[in-house]
Amino acid sequence: MIEIGEFQILSIETGTFRLDGGAMFGVVPKTLWAPHEDVDEQNRILLATRTLVAVSRDRKHVILVDTGTGTKWSGKEASRFAVAYDGEAIGRALSSHFGLTADDVTDIIVTHLHFDHNGGLTVWSGEPGGDTCLRFPGARLWLHRRQWDHVQLPSEKDRASFLKRDYDILEACAEMSFVDGAEPVAPWPGLRFFASDGHTPGQLLPIFSDGERSLMFTGDVFPTSSHLRPAWVMAYDLEPLKTIAEKKHILGWCRGNGLTLAFPHDHRLGGAVIDFANGKPFVAHPLDI
Ligand SMILES: [Zn+2]
Repeated sequence: MIEIGEFQILSIETGTFRLDGGAMFGVVPKTLWAPHEDVDEQNRILLATRTLVAVSRDRKHVILVDTGTGTKWSGKEASRFAVAYDGEAIGRALSSHFGLTADDVTDIIVTHLHFDHNGGLTVWSGEPGGDTCLRFPGARLWLHRRQWDHVQLPSEKDRASFLKRDYDILEACAEMSFVDGAEPVAPWPGLRFFASDGHTPGQLLPIFSDGERSLMFTGDVFPTSSHLRPAWVMAYDLEPLKTIAEKKHILGWCRGNGLTLAFPHDHRLGGAVIDFANGKPFVAHPLDI
């Protein structure tokens, strides 16, 4: 756990899953990425799903950033991606670190609605395959308007990453707040938003800052610490050149402002302090979150 300004911040590993290693590294040859990854016989690499928890000192804000793959998986679907999700992980971490429960969550920052990031917003309300209900009914959801618009009509390239069952009840059942534009306004002091469009339109990435130290949840701009180099982008990205430009921009903050990064999918570490050698970024040391 680390403290930044008013917030105590924790990265919780809620589960693991596996995606094709080639898709995760785009045009980068396997000979370069494979030595660093846990690759299975189907060429899938091990990834974590991580939820960032930020709790204000006065406990008025209990914020989650993303909720992971969730539990609404048939056996067949789960085996395709080797999904292993711990539905109690968030509640357990809130209890042991803060003396809170899942019912105390006030806000959820939804970076984007790909199933591996926010399938956990809802659960089956009865029989699997039937109706869904909110998993954190007291929480207000924060999304970028461009992401919500995109979800209504995804492209042929990325529509398999959006599962209707993850978000079809949100508008009717959840308190939702949309932010907009290139520099969306964040609702609380000590937080700002970065809007990213390379991976998917309107990915909303929070940066917690106290003026001296700052921490960014990197979403799928930097899914793991293996993706620090600007050109190491995923084949999933809709606009990879935009992702590369966004990565350079963020790495500039790491270099100039000491921004630290918290990764959504790294099974080895929750976050890292970044340094540079010959212009190339590397993990100077893992961040204890
Ligand atoms: Zn994604």
